[in-house]
Amino acid sequence: MDSVGVAAAAPDAGPGPAWQSKCPWGAPNTTSISCSLADVMSEQLAKELQLEEENAAFPEVVAAAEGPFITGENIDTSSDLMLAQMLQMEFDREYDAQLRREEKKINGDSKVSISFENYRKVHPYDSDSSEDEVDWQDTRHDPYRADKPTTTPRRGFIGKGKDITTKHDEVVCGRKNTARMENFAPEFQVGDGIGMDLKLSNQVFNALKQHAYSEERRSARLHEKKEHSTAEKAVDPKTRLLLYKMVNSGMLETITGCISTGKESVVFHAYGGNATEDKVIPPECAIKVFKTTLNEFKNRDKYIKDDYRFKDRFSKLNPRKIIRMWAEKEMHNLTRMQNAGIPCPQVVILKKHVLVMSFIGQDQVPAPKLKDVTLSSEDMKKAYYQILNMMQQLYRECNLVHADLSEYNMLWHDGKVWLIDVSQSVEPTHPHGLEFLFRDCRNVSQFFQKGGVAEALNERELFNAVSGLNITADNEVDFQAEIEALEKMNEDHVQNHGKKLSTFSTDGDPPIYDE
Ligand code: ADP
Ligand code: MN
Repeated sequence: MDSVGVAAAAPDAGPGPAWQSKCPWGAPNTTSISCSLADVMSEQLAKELQLEEENAAFPEVVAAAEGPFITGENIDTSSDLMLAQMLQMEFDREYDAQLRREEKKINGDSKVSISFENYRKVHPYDSDSSEDEVDWQDTRHDPYRADKPTTTPRRGFIGKGKDITTKHDEVVCGRKNTARMENFAPEFQVGDGIGMDLKLSNQVFNALKQHAYSEERRSARLHEKKEHSTAEKAVDPKTRLLLYKMVNSGMLETITGCISTGKESVVFHAYGGNATEDKVIPPECAIKVFKTTLNEFKNRDKYIKDDYRFKDRFSKLNPRKIIRMWAEKEMHNLTRMQNAGIPCPQVVILKKHVLVMSFIGQDQVPAPKLKDVTLSSEDMKKAYYQILNMMQQLYRECNLVHADLSEYNMLWHDGKVWLIDVSQSVEPTHPHGLEFLFRDCRNVSQFFQKGGVAEALNERELFNAVSGLNITADNEVDFQAEIEALEKMNEDHVQNHGKKLSTFSTDGDPPIYDE
């Protein structure tokens, strides 16, 4: 395809970031695209909105896993926090089940029994209800209703007579201590101890905990001073090891340098290595590393974490896992898009919080973002229709709303538009899904109207064209009110029927726009 009319990407204003000279894999020979304020703001907004919602929500059912790497497409990845909580709860449940087995073994048929109840992880009101049955907004049994916080009585001992088990019981305590290491800061290396039946004495645990805290504080100070100073800093030793392994295994040829460093992720360029039996590695790859150090999430979740109603649950959340969920979600969303034939990076592999995908661009030069490229009016029109089409496909075939669609997350390559950055994408039935879609529509509409595409629909028309809904309000305020009413209707439906409405569509499928 022709790429006539593509001008070089406009260099970013302001001084280049310092990593350019210090990047361990050599300086990239491309203009860096560091996160602009607008970019950060909009993503943050999206995630904040989502988080706000999750503040009030509770995990939904997880379907059986069947995906190529970790989990299946069936999983509703529209709510990351929920997923993270679910995973953690699953883990806690297993732990509790093990406790229960041990309890049984010890007690046998004896009349006097001891209980490990104090050592259970899952909160009592979660423990015996399956997640799909929990009607969390039913005010009669809302476990999170805003009452005064009740303090759980800590007896400090269990059992009776000589069968008493105090909370100081060595074995139980030791295991508990080991498990608690998981709650240390993500950058704190705890080794494989968690997976073993390792019993840490209180003394050792406390010393470790103290050390972990001071390390965390120390690294927070360092981080503050040197934020974004080098690409090296952007990836922690564990990540570096992961990357080296990819090179060592021959999957990647070389990692050449850093393409972008944002608040939540760092993107590297790499040359692809050898194909394996089941995988062809693209000649050039982009490696998106979701940051695990002092992650954004930690800052964002504080509103919930400090809320006593969630304290119990949150104290058990493991930041490492949450970060992986974002990466995993991006992988699933990209796969859905790929299957629908939408131009987007192709997933190569996901390893923990590192997502390797095909590189959009050539010879280490990433394709310019739509905001940085000057298109001929013909290409501009072509791009517009293509995006309209892609938005419809995304909605209808992939069951997704991008949720951060703008000229910042669309690349111009090979004479067409490529969609990237879909870790935050949600399904249309997400509690704020339609609002996200409306925002996407506004961004797209404004960009092309300003760009002189006379045919560009306004944001409301675009919204209807993409969603197949027929909202007739002729002003933004009413339109948005109708969107929110629809979302609320769906939420009520979820509450009453335990599942989402199959579709929002009122008048059949939306028309597909073609050039
Ligand atoms: P975020 O905006 O969350 O930091 P993105 O996925 O948007 O993450 O990636 C940041 C930047 O990295 C993009 O704007 C783009 O310039 C570049 N980039 C990301 N993925 C690719 C890719 N597959 N090919 C080429 N460049 C990419
Ligand atoms: Mn982006």
